[in-house]
Amino acid sequence: MNPCTSRLLIVDDNEMNRDMLARRLARKGYEIAVTHSAHDLLERVKLDGTDLVLLDIEMPEVSGLDALKTLREAYSAIELPIIMVTAKNQSEDIVRALDLGANDYLTKPIDFPVALARIGTQLSHKRAQEALKESEERYALAARGSNDGLWDWNLSANVVHFSPRWKAMLGYQEAQIGDRPEEWFERIHDADRERVKEEIAAHQKGLTPHFESEHRVLHKDGSFRWMLSRGVAVHDTSGNPLRMAGSQTDITEGKVSDPLTGLPNRLLFIDRVGRLVKHTKRRKDHLFAVLFLDLDGFKMINDGMGHLIGDQLLLGVAHRLEKCLRSTDTVARLGETFTVARLGGDEFTVLLDDIKDPDDAKRAADRMMKALAAPFILGGKEVFTSVSIGIALSTSAYEQPEEMLRDADTAMYRAKALGKARYEVFDADMRASVMARLQLETDLHRALEREELRNFYQPIVTLASGEIAGFEALLRWQHPTRGLLGPIEFIPVAEETGLIRELGWWNLRKACQQISEWRAGSLAHRHLSISVNLSAKQFLQPKLVEDIRNLLHELALPAEALKLEITESTVMADPSAAIEMLQQIKSLGIRLAIDDFGTGYSSLSYLHRFPLDTLKIDRSFISGMGDDGEGMEIARTILPMANNLRLDVVAEGVETLQQVAMLKKLQCKYGQGYYFSKPLSAEGTAALLAGDLTWQACEQTK
Ligand code: C2E
Ligand code: MG
Ligand code: MG
Repeated sequence: MNPCTSRLLIVDDNEMNRDMLARRLARKGYEIAVTHSAHDLLERVKLDGTDLVLLDIEMPEVSGLDALKTLREAYSAIELPIIMVTAKNQSEDIVRALDLGANDYLTKPIDFPVALARIGTQLSHKRAQEALKESEERYALAARGSNDGLWDWNLSANVVHFSPRWKAMLGYQEAQIGDRPEEWFERIHDADRERVKEEIAAHQKGLTPHFESEHRVLHKDGSFRWMLSRGVAVHDTSGNPLRMAGSQTDITEGKVSDPLTGLPNRLLFIDRVGRLVKHTKRRKDHLFAVLFLDLDGFKMINDGMGHLIGDQLLLGVAHRLEKCLRSTDTVARLGETFTVARLGGDEFTVLLDDIKDPDDAKRAADRMMKALAAPFILGGKEVFTSVSIGIALSTSAYEQPEEMLRDADTAMYRAKALGKARYEVFDADMRASVMARLQLETDLHRALEREELRNFYQPIVTLASGEIAGFEALLRWQHPTRGLLGPIEFIPVAEETGLIRELGWWNLRKACQQISEWRAGSLAHRHLSISVNLSAKQFLQPKLVEDIRNLLHELALPAEALKLEITESTVMADPSAAIEMLQQIKSLGIRLAIDDFGTGYSSLSYLHRFPLDTLKIDRSFISGMGDDGEGMEIARTILPMANNLRLDVVAEGVETLQQVAMLKKLQCKYGQGYYFSKPLSAEGTAALLAGDLTWQACEQTK
């Protein structure tokens, strides 16, 4: 604590004693005022802004004790600490002084270090009390407006003053709750208690600026209420907590109901399921089900028609769900009681209690799907929605409500994957596939750090000459336990998790490094280009163009050595944004290819609006060539058009010499496929290049 902020008043008629003490204290940083007469005190001279008074008892005219008495009537011991100074043998004076409200005393001749310590103690105590008062006032103010309860915990005595309102919030009269801290802690929910204690301890240690905690407290009526408790601790100079005071607010309402629909929220839902889970452990014949609902395509409605319409739809859905479960006009009984809750977003859950057999849950799912099938009229328009439902049954002997919800969620995902607008009942196999998928995600995160990714290279061959024109970089993952994995195994997961950006960038960088190395290695290889696949997520990154420009610059790689492959669906997702992006890439001098052409729905004439250089005909059309001729027909249509539009064509998946011959006849410029080479490791590719292999067979075909 900085003593400079404190002003001391020394009152002593002995000039020498007084001024010496004043000088020494001033050197310690205190602001000092002096006076020779206790009379000044009665007149309040020099008292303004004084934090502490050092008062000599033996004074002419007005004695120090008289002055003390008067001051105490005007100021409390905390507002104005007073340290009396007296001769050693005057013990009666000291007792009287303390009686009259002196905070402490010093004896003459004054031992300076002792004086300094006593002054320090008084001042820090005063400051602590002021801080506490301030916070109490703050909380009292807040509490008056919001019906909060107050608590004030004296840590050294370990007693807590709980305000009458604090007790009333828990259903008790003033006299029914004492002042032990346990009155509070013992009422806190088992699951929250340790955490609350840790939060208090953390604040007392000064680790948090204030204590703020949400937890459940037991009400007299046996229910738990959610409370928000806030407070501050007051410390002494050495940092030990002296007191802690704060408020308590009942936040149960906000905790248990969803503000939009007024339905129970996740917390309340989990609480109800939790009770049943416990109950079912004792009563094995008790059957209940949790249904997890997710609207299909809600995001599109919300984004497309606006959040207001989205909210109205959610309200409408909530309403229909409750109504259809409540209706009694069906013969089939769907459990004794039910709870519909909104978990958030477009997710709803339903708890069906006391059903007679698992089919009841399926029937409820059917009924809810039917109830949502009719259009909603929102903002004057008809809006259609459907729902995917996952069902978990209590027969799986759950330990925790969250597990049951999780399984229902898993089943819901399966329902989505199987085409949406349907329900699935959870089974253990679903769990296994989810676990495998989660494991893959975790592993994939580490794959980058652990350098488990590899680039393989597949030659792209000029069909007329049989020479290698370049390579396509294809990602592989050297998995620690599963061996070498192809992109089908992990790219979809990477796309979903967003990790594809890092993966894709790693691939692009590596491929560019590799090709510049090979190009530099031999004059004969100076023309080689590298094709790199870009995923939609990468493609939409605003910094992509700049990053690529920097990369090319860093590697001194000419832009025409790089070709980027994107799929039709990437381009078609947002054609106008795509054109802009493609033009930027193109302006760097990089060439662009449409990958897997023919598998999407866009026509060649439409695609021509994009600044493209190359079409890669999907291998499904090439592999058909030579057998029944169907694939052949497609190649026969595409190739002349592409040539007209001055697009290069790469035939993917070329596997036979016969296909090579036909493609040449159709004037297809490039081929890529197992006929020439499978994708090779970097070493394998280097060896291939060293051999300067050309595919003689290409030249021989007519
Ligand atoms: P793609 O870009 O169409 O790559 C061609 C795929 O066809 C490669 O599969 C290649 O091994 C395979 N292939 C080549 N010739 C033949 C053949 O003669 N017969 C058969 N049956 N297959 C052939 P791969 O390496 O499994 O890659 C699959 C897909 O994964 C790629 O298709 C590409 O879309 C994606 N991919 C690979 N690497 C990356 C990457 O770094 N980033 C992104 N975003 N996607 C990548
Ligand atoms: Mg490709
Ligand atoms: Mg392809």
